[in-house]
Amino acid sequence: MRPKRILILGGTGLARAAAAALVARGHHVMSSLAGVTQNPLLPAGHLRVGGFGGAEGLTTYLRDDKFDLVVDATHAFAAQISRHAAVAAMQANTPLVRLEAAPWMALPQDTWTQVADVDAAVSVIGPGHKLVVTVGRKEISKFFARNDLSGVARMIEPPQIEIPTRWQVVLERPPFTLESEIDFLREHGATMLISKNAGGPRPAKLDAAAALNIPVIIVARPETLVVDRIATVDELLGRLAREG
Ligand code: NAP
Repeated sequence: MRPKRILILGGTGLARAAAAALVARGHHVMSSLAGVTQNPLLPAGHLRVGGFGGAEGLTTYLRDDKFDLVVDATHAFAAQISRHAAVAAMQANTPLVRLEAAPWMALPQDTWTQVADVDAAVSVIGPGHKLVVTVGRKEISKFFARNDLSGVARMIEPPQIEIPTRWQVVLERPPFTLESEIDFLREHGATMLISKNAGGPRPAKLDAAAALNIPVIIVARPETLVVDRIATVDELLGRLAREG
Protein backbone atom coordinates (compact mmCIF):
# COMPACT_ATOMS: atom_id res chain seq x y z
CA MET A 1 0.00 0.00 0.00
CA ARG A 2 1.27 3.48 -0.87
CA PRO A 3 2.03 5.44 2.33
CA LYS A 4 -0.56 8.18 2.79
CA ARG A 5 -0.35 11.66 4.27
CA ILE A 6 -2.92 11.63 7.05
CA LEU A 7 -4.04 14.45 9.34
CA ILE A 8 -5.56 13.26 12.61
CA LEU A 9 -7.57 15.83 14.54
CA GLY A 10 -6.93 14.52 18.01
CA GLY A 11 -7.20 15.10 21.70
CA THR A 12 -8.58 11.64 22.51
CA GLY A 13 -7.25 8.17 23.34
CA LEU A 14 -8.80 6.88 20.14
CA ALA A 15 -6.84 9.48 18.14
CA ARG A 16 -3.59 8.33 19.76
CA ALA A 17 -4.43 4.70 19.03
CA ALA A 18 -5.10 5.61 15.39
CA ALA A 19 -1.81 7.55 15.14
CA ALA A 20 0.17 4.63 16.57
CA ALA A 21 -1.46 2.11 14.21
CA LEU A 22 -1.04 4.29 11.11
CA VAL A 23 2.61 5.20 11.89
CA ALA A 24 3.34 1.50 12.46
CA ARG A 25 2.05 0.84 8.92
CA GLY A 26 4.36 3.42 7.41
CA HIS A 27 1.94 6.29 6.84
CA HIS A 28 2.96 9.93 7.28
CA VAL A 29 0.82 10.99 10.23
CA MET A 30 0.36 14.53 11.51
CA SER A 31 -1.68 14.75 14.70
CA SER A 32 -3.26 18.04 15.65
CA LEU A 33 -4.09 19.13 19.19
CA ALA A 34 -6.03 22.23 20.21
CA GLY A 35 -3.43 23.12 22.84
CA VAL A 36 -5.91 23.40 25.71
CA THR A 37 -4.26 20.73 27.90
CA GLN A 38 -0.90 21.69 29.40
CA ASN A 39 0.76 18.26 29.48
CA PRO A 40 -1.09 16.24 26.85
CA LEU A 41 -0.34 12.58 26.21
CA LEU A 42 1.62 12.70 22.96
CA PRO A 43 0.74 10.67 19.85
CA ALA A 44 3.12 8.75 17.59
CA GLY A 45 4.27 10.54 14.44
CA HIS A 46 4.33 14.29 13.87
CA LEU A 47 2.51 16.82 16.00
CA ARG A 48 1.17 20.33 15.53
CA VAL A 49 -0.59 22.29 18.28
CA GLY A 50 -3.16 25.10 18.22
CA GLY A 51 -6.23 26.16 16.26
CA PHE A 52 -6.16 26.48 12.46
CA GLY A 53 -8.16 29.71 12.34
CA GLY A 54 -11.59 28.29 11.64
CA ALA A 55 -12.77 26.22 8.68
CA GLU A 56 -10.98 28.54 6.25
CA GLY A 57 -7.64 28.11 8.03
CA LEU A 58 -8.06 24.35 8.07
CA THR A 59 -8.95 24.37 4.36
CA THR A 60 -5.70 26.18 3.60
CA TYR A 61 -3.73 23.80 5.81
CA LEU A 62 -5.18 20.75 4.04
CA ARG A 63 -4.44 22.20 0.61
CA ASP A 64 -0.92 23.41 1.43
CA ASP A 65 0.22 20.17 3.04
CA LYS A 66 -1.53 17.94 0.46
CA PHE A 67 -3.13 15.48 2.84
CA ASP A 68 -4.71 12.33 1.37
CA LEU A 69 -7.06 11.88 4.31
CA VAL A 70 -8.36 13.70 7.39
CA VAL A 71 -9.35 11.60 10.39
CA ASP A 72 -11.54 13.60 12.75
CA ALA A 73 -10.90 11.74 16.00
CA THR A 74 -11.74 14.64 18.30
CA HIS A 75 -13.92 14.18 21.36
CA ALA A 76 -17.63 13.66 20.67
CA PHE A 77 -18.33 16.96 22.49
CA ALA A 78 -15.82 19.02 20.50
CA ALA A 79 -18.54 20.00 18.02
CA GLN A 80 -16.94 23.10 16.56
CA ILE A 81 -13.75 21.48 15.25
CA SER A 82 -15.81 18.62 13.78
CA ARG A 83 -18.00 21.12 11.91
CA HIS A 84 -14.90 22.92 10.66
CA ALA A 85 -13.36 19.62 9.56
CA ALA A 86 -16.45 18.71 7.54
CA VAL A 87 -16.52 22.08 5.78
CA ALA A 88 -12.74 22.26 5.21
CA ALA A 89 -12.48 18.71 3.88
CA MET A 90 -15.21 19.49 1.35
CA GLN A 91 -13.59 22.77 0.33
CA ALA A 92 -10.11 21.25 -0.01
CA ASN A 93 -11.51 18.12 -1.67
CA THR A 94 -9.79 15.91 0.93
CA PRO A 95 -11.50 12.68 2.06
CA LEU A 96 -12.69 12.83 5.68
CA VAL A 97 -13.62 10.10 8.12
CA ARG A 98 -15.05 10.65 11.55
CA LEU A 99 -13.52 8.22 14.06
CA GLU A 100 -15.89 8.26 16.99
CA ALA A 101 -16.30 5.63 19.68
CA ALA A 102 -19.81 4.18 19.99
CA PRO A 103 -21.86 5.90 22.73
CA TRP A 104 -22.44 4.15 26.04
CA MET A 105 -25.77 2.37 26.39
CA ALA A 106 -27.65 2.03 29.69
CA LEU A 107 -27.47 -1.44 31.27
CA PRO A 108 -30.26 -2.94 33.39
CA GLN A 109 -28.47 -2.00 36.63
CA ASP A 110 -28.16 1.68 35.63
CA THR A 111 -30.39 4.53 36.79
CA TRP A 112 -29.80 7.08 34.06
CA THR A 113 -31.56 10.24 33.04
CA GLN A 114 -30.41 11.11 29.52
CA VAL A 115 -30.52 14.79 28.61
CA ALA A 116 -29.70 16.75 25.47
CA ASP A 117 -27.07 19.11 26.85
CA VAL A 118 -25.44 20.49 29.99
CA ASP A 119 -28.16 23.16 30.41
CA ALA A 120 -30.78 20.43 30.52
CA ALA A 121 -28.66 18.46 33.00
CA VAL A 122 -28.47 21.45 35.35
CA SER A 123 -32.20 22.07 35.12
CA VAL A 124 -33.32 18.48 35.93
CA ILE A 125 -31.33 18.16 39.17
CA GLY A 126 -33.49 18.51 42.27
CA PRO A 127 -32.35 20.80 45.14
CA GLY A 128 -29.83 19.69 47.76
CA HIS A 129 -27.88 17.13 45.77
CA LYS A 130 -24.20 16.47 46.36
CA LEU A 131 -22.89 16.00 42.87
CA VAL A 132 -19.88 14.44 41.31
CA VAL A 133 -19.61 16.28 37.99
CA THR A 134 -17.34 14.94 35.25
CA VAL A 135 -18.20 17.12 32.25
CA GLY A 136 -14.88 18.96 31.92
CA ARG A 137 -14.24 22.60 32.71
CA LYS A 138 -15.90 24.50 29.86
CA GLU A 139 -19.44 24.40 31.26
CA ILE A 140 -18.81 23.75 34.94
CA SER A 141 -19.92 27.30 35.86
CA LYS A 142 -23.51 26.27 35.03
CA PHE A 143 -23.46 23.86 38.00
CA PHE A 144 -21.66 26.37 40.25
CA ALA A 145 -24.45 28.88 39.52
CA ARG A 146 -27.04 26.75 41.35
CA ASN A 147 -26.89 27.85 45.02
CA ASP A 148 -28.79 24.76 46.17
CA LEU A 149 -26.19 22.27 44.84
CA SER A 150 -22.73 21.31 46.07
CA GLY A 151 -20.17 18.68 45.29
CA VAL A 152 -17.02 17.81 43.44
CA ALA A 153 -16.06 18.70 39.88
CA ARG A 154 -13.44 16.34 38.50
CA MET A 155 -11.45 17.44 35.48
CA ILE A 156 -7.97 17.40 33.93
CA GLU A 157 -7.21 21.13 33.86
CA PRO A 158 -8.47 23.65 36.45
CA PRO A 159 -11.29 26.03 35.45
CA GLN A 160 -10.33 29.68 35.00
CA ILE A 161 -13.19 30.83 37.24
CA GLU A 162 -13.79 31.26 40.94
CA ILE A 163 -14.79 28.04 42.70
CA PRO A 164 -17.69 28.50 45.17
CA THR A 165 -16.94 27.29 48.71
CA ARG A 166 -19.65 24.61 48.39
CA TRP A 167 -17.58 23.00 45.62
CA GLN A 168 -14.28 21.20 45.40
CA VAL A 169 -12.33 20.79 42.16
CA VAL A 170 -10.32 17.57 41.86
CA LEU A 171 -7.74 17.42 39.06
CA GLU A 172 -7.32 13.84 37.87
CA ARG A 173 -6.90 12.05 34.57
CA PRO A 174 -8.51 8.68 33.72
CA PRO A 175 -8.35 5.69 33.68
CA PHE A 176 -9.83 4.92 37.11
CA THR A 177 -10.57 1.53 38.65
CA LEU A 178 -13.97 0.39 39.92
CA GLU A 179 -12.60 0.32 43.48
CA SER A 180 -11.18 3.83 43.29
CA GLU A 181 -14.40 5.16 41.73
CA ILE A 182 -16.54 3.57 44.46
CA ASP A 183 -14.21 5.10 47.06
CA PHE A 184 -14.39 8.48 45.30
CA LEU A 185 -18.18 8.58 45.19
CA ARG A 186 -18.41 7.42 48.83
CA GLU A 187 -15.71 9.76 50.11
CA HIS A 188 -17.53 12.77 48.64
CA GLY A 189 -20.99 11.60 49.76
CA ALA A 190 -22.24 11.79 46.17
CA THR A 191 -25.99 11.54 45.65
CA MET A 192 -25.76 11.98 41.88
CA LEU A 193 -23.17 11.63 39.11
CA ILE A 194 -23.14 13.81 35.99
CA SER A 195 -21.29 12.65 32.88
CA LYS A 196 -21.13 13.35 29.17
CA ASN A 197 -21.71 10.34 26.95
CA ALA A 198 -18.12 10.28 25.70
CA GLY A 199 -18.51 6.71 24.43
CA GLY A 200 -15.93 3.97 24.01
CA PRO A 201 -15.14 1.45 26.75
CA ARG A 202 -17.64 1.81 29.59
CA PRO A 203 -15.87 3.78 32.33
CA ALA A 204 -15.62 2.51 35.90
CA LYS A 205 -17.53 5.56 37.23
CA LEU A 206 -20.76 4.24 35.67
CA ASP A 207 -20.31 0.80 37.27
CA ALA A 208 -19.44 2.44 40.58
CA ALA A 209 -22.60 4.56 40.47
CA ALA A 210 -24.68 1.48 39.64
CA ALA A 211 -23.06 -0.48 42.48
CA LEU A 212 -23.90 2.30 44.97
CA ASN A 213 -27.41 2.95 43.51
CA ILE A 214 -26.43 6.50 42.66
CA PRO A 215 -28.49 8.02 39.82
CA VAL A 216 -26.57 9.33 36.81
CA ILE A 217 -27.39 12.15 34.45
CA ILE A 218 -25.94 11.42 31.03
CA VAL A 219 -25.49 14.32 28.63
CA ALA A 220 -26.03 13.21 25.02
CA ARG A 221 -23.61 14.16 22.26
CA PRO A 222 -24.20 17.31 20.28
CA GLU A 223 -25.55 16.98 16.76
CA THR A 224 -22.83 17.11 14.11
CA LEU A 225 -22.88 17.24 10.34
CA VAL A 226 -23.42 13.88 8.70
CA VAL A 227 -20.05 12.54 7.63
CA ASP A 228 -18.51 9.16 6.94
CA ARG A 229 -18.41 7.63 10.43
CA ILE A 230 -16.38 4.71 11.80
CA ALA A 231 -16.02 3.56 15.39
CA THR A 232 -12.71 1.68 15.64
CA VAL A 233 -9.08 1.92 14.55
CA ASP A 234 -9.42 -1.53 12.92
CA GLU A 235 -12.19 -0.22 10.64
CA LEU A 236 -9.92 2.67 9.69
CA LEU A 237 -7.02 0.31 8.84
CA GLY A 238 -9.38 -1.96 6.87
CA ARG A 239 -10.60 0.95 4.83
CA LEU A 240 -7.07 2.16 4.01
CA ALA A 241 -6.02 -1.36 3.02
CA ARG A 242 -9.02 -1.67 0.66
CA GLU A 243 -8.29 1.69 -0.93
CA GLY A 244 -4.64 0.65 -1.52
P1 NAP B 1 -14.20 22.75 20.00
O1 NAP B 1 -15.07 23.59 20.86
O2 NAP B 1 -14.82 21.86 19.00
O3 NAP B 1 -13.12 23.63 19.22
C1 NAP B 1 -12.81 24.97 19.57
C2 NAP B 1 -11.65 25.41 18.70
O4 NAP B 1 -10.44 24.80 19.15
C3 NAP B 1 -11.77 24.99 17.25
O5 NAP B 1 -12.55 25.90 16.49
C4 NAP B 1 -10.31 24.97 16.80
O6 NAP B 1 -9.82 26.29 16.59
C5 NAP B 1 -9.62 24.45 18.05
N1 NAP B 1 -9.45 22.99 18.03
C6 NAP B 1 -10.23 22.04 18.62
N2 NAP B 1 -9.70 20.82 18.46
C7 NAP B 1 -8.58 21.00 17.74
C8 NAP B 1 -7.58 20.10 17.26
N3 NAP B 1 -7.65 18.78 17.50
N4 NAP B 1 -6.55 20.63 16.55
C9 NAP B 1 -6.47 21.97 16.32
N5 NAP B 1 -7.37 22.86 16.76
C10 NAP B 1 -8.41 22.37 17.46
O7 NAP B 1 -13.22 21.85 20.90
P2 NAP B 1 -13.11 21.69 22.50
O8 NAP B 1 -14.36 21.10 23.03
O9 NAP B 1 -12.56 22.97 23.05
O10 NAP B 1 -11.98 20.57 22.56
C11 NAP B 1 -10.63 20.89 22.29
C12 NAP B 1 -9.81 19.61 22.19
O11 NAP B 1 -9.93 18.86 23.39
C13 NAP B 1 -10.26 18.72 21.04
O12 NAP B 1 -9.10 18.33 20.34
C14 NAP B 1 -10.95 17.55 21.71
O13 NAP B 1 -10.75 16.33 21.02
C15 NAP B 1 -10.33 17.54 23.10
N6 NAP B 1 -11.29 17.10 24.14
C16 NAP B 1 -12.51 17.75 24.28
C17 NAP B 1 -13.40 17.31 25.25
C18 NAP B 1 -14.77 17.94 25.42
O14 NAP B 1 -15.54 17.46 26.28
N7 NAP B 1 -15.13 18.94 24.64
C19 NAP B 1 -13.04 16.23 26.09
C20 NAP B 1 -11.79 15.61 25.92
C21 NAP B 1 -10.92 16.06 24.95
P3 NAP B 1 -9.77 26.95 15.15
O15 NAP B 1 -11.17 27.30 14.81
O16 NAP B 1 -8.86 28.14 15.33
O17 NAP B 1 -9.20 25.94 14.20
